[in-house]
Amino acid sequence: MAGMVVTFFVIGLVSALLIPRLVASQSERVVTYEETETPPAVEEAVTTGIPPEGVDSAEGEVHETLPGTQKYDGPQIAQSMSIETKETWLSWMRNDRHDTSAFLEDRWKLAQDFVWSQELKRPEDVRAFLLAPREHFVRAQNKGLEYADTWLPIGYGATITDPDVVAMMTTTLNINPGDKVLEIGTGSGYQASILAYLTTEVYTIEIIRPLFAETDNLLQDLEKSNPAFGSINRKLGDGYYGWEEYAPFDKIIVTCAVDHIPPPLLKQLSPGGIMVLPLGPPGRQYIMEVKKEVALDGSIALNRRDVYNGMRVSFIPFRNEAGASYSTSAPVEKPPIPAALNARQSPAPAAAGSDAEQ
Ligand code: SAH
Repeated sequence: MAGMVVTFFVIGLVSALLIPRLVASQSERVVTYEETETPPAVEEAVTTGIPPEGVDSAEGEVHETLPGTQKYDGPQIAQSMSIETKETWLSWMRNDRHDTSAFLEDRWKLAQDFVWSQELKRPEDVRAFLLAPREHFVRAQNKGLEYADTWLPIGYGATITDPDVVAMMTTTLNINPGDKVLEIGTGSGYQASILAYLTTEVYTIEIIRPLFAETDNLLQDLEKSNPAFGSINRKLGDGYYGWEEYAPFDKIIVTCAVDHIPPPLLKQLSPGGIMVLPLGPPGRQYIMEVKKEVALDGSIALNRRDVYNGMRVSFIPFRNEAGASYSTSAPVEKPPIPAALNARQSPAPAAAGSDAEQ
């Protein structure tokens, strides 16, 4: 009898966890359209190349760190890593990488959780996730929460994104070694550190000057034990205009919220390329995968897919140099979190501040 109860409980749990995922993957919502909606304020800027008033052009920014000329092969180290069992991985990290971090077990556990939830799907992404030392990117004020599945503040009104959303966005990008990847919103540097184990061509832009400097120093420091971070090209500037000099990019990941696809970024995305971004009004976005197809006659079609199939997220705004959001739609009240999602979208810990966003 007790055995039957346990069996039913396990079956119930498995269907509760897996079935929504299966349904989600079958009911792909694909929308094809030719033009993105562009707010009038930036429409002119895009066609003329001159940013709207009050916005310093990314071109005008001089602070760039381009260590990427000395490329260290992150994807190769990721491939050589042993991940057959937790024990072989732990001993590889300790013996081959001389990584004696107290957080290795926590990192393994999170990776395993995300494989289960299918937020990490490809082995390459699991490997990159296992190599990225989140404990160094979570800032000192949040000690103890390094591997909590939640976003955390990193100062300057910015945040380090939930590890599960980072995992999902990374998996969606489907990065191959050698792909040129652009990230908008360097923030803590955590997402960029994962990218550096997937390809040697990482480009990242941050708009907040002191945050840029802090993360730039951190990456230089970590490069001593993680030479792959030397491949991360970083720039202080407004990511709305992308990084023209190094375009086109095979993949683009936007980690700040916006209610339209920034046209300059769409232009800088290669034909066949993938962009992942939190799309929606302030306070409520969906993580969208956007695939760009260019037809022979030059027309552009976008295939969009909501990767969480309806789950809402709330990222901090995609803003200009003057601090104004690029979104023109009215903010949306955050909806109450359904009980079923509570476990996934755990409320931010006290240190995170009540109304910050990821
Ligand atoms: N990817 C980051 C998440 C940072 S939160 C991480 O792994 O930690 C989003 C970041 O986007 C913030 O640091 C914010 O300053 C930055 N941001 C907002 N608007 C931007 C813009 N126009 N250009 C570049 N970065 C921007």
